[in-house]
Amino acid sequence: MKLDSYGDVGGNDMTAFGNAATSKELLIDRWDEILEFLRTQFNITKVSFNTWLKNLEVKDVKDDLVILHSSDPSIGPNLSFIKNKYGAFIKNAIEEIIDDEINIDIVSDDVVTEKSERTPQQTAQSSSLLGLKLNPDYTFDNFVVSSSNAIVHAAALKVAEAPGEYYNPLYIYGDPGLGKTHLMHSIAHFILENTPSIKIMYVTSEVFMNELVEAIRHGSVAPSDFREKYRNIDVLLIDDIQFIIGKERTQEEFFHTFNYLYEAKKQIVISSDKPPRDFNNLEERLRSRFECGLTVDLTAPDFETKMAILQKKLEIKEYESNIRLNVDDDVLSYIAQSITTNIRSLEGALTKLIALSRIKRTPINIELAEEALRDIVFPNQKKSISPEYIIDVVSEHFSVSVDEILSDKRDKYIIIPRQICMFLARRYTSLSTIDLEKVFHRDHATILHGIGNVEKKLKSDDETSKTIDIITKKLNI
Ligand code: ADP
Ligand code: MG
Repeated sequence: MKLDSYGDVGGNDMTAFGNAATSKELLIDRWDEILEFLRTQFNITKVSFNTWLKNLEVKDVKDDLVILHSSDPSIGPNLSFIKNKYGAFIKNAIEEIIDDEINIDIVSDDVVTEKSERTPQQTAQSSSLLGLKLNPDYTFDNFVVSSSNAIVHAAALKVAEAPGEYYNPLYIYGDPGLGKTHLMHSIAHFILENTPSIKIMYVTSEVFMNELVEAIRHGSVAPSDFREKYRNIDVLLIDDIQFIIGKERTQEEFFHTFNYLYEAKKQIVISSDKPPRDFNNLEERLRSRFECGLTVDLTAPDFETKMAILQKKLEIKEYESNIRLNVDDDVLSYIAQSITTNIRSLEGALTKLIALSRIKRTPINIELAEEALRDIVFPNQKKSISPEYIIDVVSEHFSVSVDEILSDKRDKYIIIPRQICMFLARRYTSLSTIDLEKVFHRDHATILHGIGNVEKKLKSDDETSKTIDIITKKLNI
C-alpha cells in the first residue's frame, strides 16, 4: 500500500484520505511519537540519538517515499553514515507508528561527499582498555556541543560508533584546554560501554615514547614486546602527538605502528596542538599518513557555549559532592566574560570560586567571583596573600580538600597540611593569632601549637623545609 493512501478507517475509499499532503501532515503530527519509538526500541544511546536523529524532520512525502531533512549543519558530512546505521531503524519506526510500508531518504542543507566506506570488522575479544586511565567525567554526555566543536564532536562520535570504518585516522587539533583529551576519553568510554568486542589503547605520545625508550634500553634491537603491545589492539588513541614530532627514533617507530594498524583497518585517533602541515620537522611520509583521514579543529567557544559548559561543570560538581551550590547565572556570566578562550581555565575559575566560598563560609556572589578571579582578570596586579589563598594552594599541593583542612579531622595526613597553612598564614599575612582562630575555627592554643610545630620541624627536618620552599614558590609571593 502506498503511504499517501494511508487511512486508519478500514475499508474506506482511499481517495478520501489519499493525498500526499495529508500523509505528510500525519507524519508531522506523529513525528514525536516516531522519534520516541526509534529511541527506545532500538537501544540507541542518548548521545547518538541527540547527535544524529533528534533534529530530523519530515520534509516531504512522494508516493511511498518519505523524505527526511536535518537542519543541523554537522549532519551534512555524515548523511550516508546515518542512512547506513539508522536507516532501517527509522523506516521501521515510521512503519510501526503509521502502520504502513514506506521507503525513506534523508537530505541535509549541507551535502558533502563522504569518504569511501569500508565493511565493518571486529575482533572477538571482550572490550578492554589498555594504557592510561580515563577520567570518568570526560564523556560525550558531559561534552557541550556548539558551533565551535560540532564537527569534531560528530566525527568523534562516529568513530566511537564504528571504529575503523570511517575517518581513519581522525586527527583532532586545537589550542590547549579546548577539549581534545575530553573527546578522546569520550570515544574510549563510548566503545567500552557499547561495543563488547574491542581492545582500546589510550596513551599520550610521551608515554608511547617512554615505553619505547624503556624497551630499547632493555636490550632488544627490535623491541618486540613493545610492538606486540601496540599492534594487538583495535583502537589506538594517541593524545598530544606534538611531543614526539622531531624525535627521530620515536617517530620512526610510530610510523610503523601507524601503518600496521591502518592496514589492518584499525581505528587511529590522534590529537595535537597543530595541524600536520604546521609541523616543520614532521617527516613527510608521516605527515601524509596523518592527513589521509579526517583532520578537524576545535576553536575557542563563544559566550553562550562558555555559559553552557559552566552550567554543565556545576551540575557535575553538585552531583559529585551531593551539595547544592547556589550559583546564579550572573556569577557564571561574570566568569564566562572574564575568561576568554581556554575552557580549562573556565573550569579552574569555577573550582576556585567554590573553594573560596567554602573557606570563607560565604555565599557565592559577584563580589566573591571578583575576588576569586582577580589573578586571572588582572594578572599583572600584585597578588594579595590571604589565608584563603594559602589554604587553597596548600590543599592543592597535598591533594587534600579545603574542607578537610578546615574540618575537625585528626588524621596525620591532614594535620601537617593544616599546620603548614597556619604557619604560612602567620608569616605572610598581617593577621593576628586571634584572626587565625576565626579562619581555622580553632582555639588560641591549637593555632600556637600548630605554628610552633612547623617552626620546630623546619629546623630539624629537611623534607619539611623543602616542602615549605615549594609551597612558597607556588604562592608566588
Ligand atoms: P585539551 O586536551 O584540548 O587541552 P581538555 O580535553 O583537557 O583540553 O579540556 C579541558 C577542560 O575543558 C576539561 O575539563 C574538559 O572537560 C573541558 N571541556 C572542553 N570542552 C568542553 C565541552 N565542549 N564541554 C564540556 N567541557 C569541556
Ligand atoms: Mg589534552
